[in-house]
Amino acid sequence: MTSKSVVPKNISFEFFPPRTPEGAEQLRKTREELGVVKPLYFSVTFGAGGSTQQGTLDAVIEIKEAGYEAAPHLSCISSSRARLREVLQLYIDAGLKRIVALRGDMPSGMQRGGDFRYATELVEFIRAETGDHFHIEVAAYPEIHPQARSAHDDLCNFKRKVDAGANGAITQYFFNTDAFFRFIDDCERLGITLPIVPGIMPITNYSQLARFSDMCGAEIPRWLRKRLEGFGDDRKSIRAYGEEVVSRMCDDLLKAGIPGLHFYTMNQSAATLAIWKNLGLAAS
Ligand code: FAD
Repeated sequence: MTSKSVVPKNISFEFFPPRTPEGAEQLRKTREELGVVKPLYFSVTFGAGGSTQQGTLDAVIEIKEAGYEAAPHLSCISSSRARLREVLQLYIDAGLKRIVALRGDMPSGMQRGGDFRYATELVEFIRAETGDHFHIEVAAYPEIHPQARSAHDDLCNFKRKVDAGANGAITQYFFNTDAFFRFIDDCERLGITLPIVPGIMPITNYSQLARFSDMCGAEIPRWLRKRLEGFGDDRKSIRAYGEEVVSRMCDDLLKAGIPGLHFYTMNQSAATLAIWKNLGLAAS
């Protein structure tokens, strides 16, 4: 790609909480490398079922102390009102103003429980408890959430979340821009006007990507799957081809005027920075 893409305003990078001191060190390095892009914020995922919740808090505090805006994710699926109230207070005390509000998925083998069934209820709860303190992002599914009864139901459920008080949405990753543009059109028809930022998954490891995609309902189109499978264990070629495909997709999205990009970084900077450079944005 040779042309320079339009610089998007709303750039964010998603991390997961590190589990070891080495992982924490790696994340610091990644954060500094991605910091040159001047993102609007870094977000940190939250494990439903309690496994990584302290890790989320520790990671966002460290990001904030390094001078960046940080957005903890918060999922409600297995939590009580009292526990969520406590977590919200910890985030407020840490000076955080952004949050990504989700239902979450239970880790396999764990029982579902908690006071809330859907993210809409969490958004309502955050607004009821903390007013306008938080800028709330919610999740959106251009290729339809795997548990939705129908595409129309999923869209109506998304609208409920928006009406409950979300400020913005981040999509599940996709490799099919038509699905994204159709979703945006459907949202506009329903009067949904909040910024919807595409979630971007750099392609670095095909077997991991295939596993994730099966779980979350993101489609790897046949042509892409076949090309990636064709590289076998050749990680270098998978990366190079993945960078080209995802860069081209981001370029198409940016040219269509999307409000920003949210990168699922997997706590690594190289693939995201390569895409950034391909978009002609590296020096901006
Ligand atoms: P919801 O909006 O509640 O939707 C879940 C399903 O319920 C959908 O099928 C929807 O159509 C349906 N539904 C919603 N409301 C109703 C209703 N009133 N009646 C009937 N059906 C309804 N997971 C984590 O555990 N931790 C994370 O940090 C995390 N971060 C994420 C970040 C992003 C940007 C995205 C896109 C996903 C993230 N996830 C995370 C995954 C997410 O938790 C799962 O996709 C989960 O299955 C759905 O979460 P949700 O917030 O979209 O749920």
